Amino acid sequence: ARTFFVGGNFKMNGTLESTKSIVEKLNSAPLASDAEVVISPSFPYLAAAKSIITAKNISVAAQNSADRPNGAFTGEVSVAQIKDVGADWVIIGHSERRTIIKESDELIADKTKYALDNGLKVILCIGETFEEKQANKTLEVCERQLSAVISKISDWTNVVVAYEPVWAIGTGLAATPEDAQNIHADLRKFLSEKLGKSVADSLRIIYGGSVNGANATSFKDKADVDGFLVGGASLKPEFIDIVNSRQ
Ligand code: 13P
Repeated sequence: ARTFFVGGNFKMNGTLESTKSIVEKLNSAPLASDAEVVISPSFPYLAAAKSIITAKNISVAAQNSADRPNGAFTGEVSVAQIKDVGADWVIIGHSERRTIIKESDELIADKTKYALDNGLKVILCIGETFEEKQANKTLEVCERQLSAVISKISDWTNVVVAYEPVWAIGTGLAATPEDAQNIHADLRKFLSEKLGKSVADSLRIIYGGSVNGANATSFKDKADVDGFLVGGASLKPEFIDIVNSRQ
């Protein structure tokens, strides 16, 4: 069985104080012990967040990493630096980086490969825009985004795929559980064809986009929805309800 996975992507939000306060609340919350929880504060707070986590099933992710080891790359952060402050994961290919920062499928694949090869686990984000959905291109877009990575990596053990439709992010309009299930099942079928059934069957595909404490339980019986990547609600107490939504 695939372990239920809940990621909290804090994006470019918070202060040192508020980040620590979230971690402290998670430490003292009754968190489902069979859920894997990964929180992703902004870079300046990664080390502080990591250092005060006491809950066993919580780890830390960076929100980006470079596709090369070190050197003259002003503003970039390396995989080694991220690991050095105790993070085990990195979020790669988030739609905000694809669309606003203009990261290409190719760069995202390179970053994914570099992170995996150097010992970070990867939350790989994919998803279509509203226009692409309207044009019935959801699968085509997701498969293109996945294909770029498939061509560069062979071991998917340390990858979680996050399906995050761009139109659902920060809009309050989550995909319906039925739609998410259908797309996740199609993506798993595609991955099965490309990577083999056993890889596809053990790979977690999580959903992101306006997940909150109220709607999380409605995905409970969806076999191919293996968890969530949560933005706004990960900054609030309801994040705990999302972690506990499978109980
Ligand atoms: P929201 O949960 O705020 O819609 O953001 C989702 C997201 O982008 C997580 O990476």
